[in-house]
Amino acid sequence: MKISLASCCANCEHFLNGQLCGVQEVVVSENQVCEAYEFKAVLHREDDCLKCSKFQTNNCAHPQKASEGIMCTVWYPRAAS
Ligand code: SF4
Ligand code: SF4
Repeated sequence: MKISLASCCANCEHFLNGQLCGVQEVVVSENQVCEAYEFKAVLHREDDCLKCSKFQTNNCAHPQKASEGIMCTVWYPRAAS
């Protein structure tokens, strides 16, 4: 069974200061979600999209955002050569 991260306020672009929704303008909790959910890319110095086997392939989950210094929850390392 495949395990994946939920799409929820906790990893939404509009979740502010760990408690406020910038779209709904109300207090929300990490485990809520709404139709305006938008994936939030996270800065990551060690493993990033450039080291992901899905980078610039049809398997990339976020081709518009994939770049150096960030990664998403389905990051998968490139095979060592
Ligand atoms: S309520 Fe919707 S838009 Fe606001 S933080 Fe949660 S998922 Fe994002
Ligand atoms: S980490 Fe995510 S966004 Fe980045 S290249 Fe891999 S699949 Fe695409």
